[in-house]
Amino acid sequence: MGTDCNKCADAHRMLCELLDSGTTPQRAAEIREAIAACPECFSRYENELAARTIVQDCCGSAHAPDRLRDSIIASITTVSVSEVRYRG
Ligand SMILES: [Zn+2]
Repeated sequence: MGTDCNKCADAHRMLCELLDSGTTPQRAAEIREAIAACPECFSRYENELAARTIVQDCCGSAHAPDRLRDSIIASITTVSVSEVRYRG
């Protein structure tokens, strides 16, 4: 909340473009810079990237090393566990 980043509204479109294998390296670098300048965009990027890594793995075309994939999955698990922690 409260960020003035006008790219946030476009963040998902940029992510799709960035993760599209048809995007040029120059355009991808531009998008990465825009994302890195905004914590909110960067957070969306990380989530999208993690989700796609898992989806790609299902299709057998993942390039992420096993250790990286494990740490992504572990961090997702940690987040969801802490979000649903029972407050008894
Ligand atoms: Zn943003």
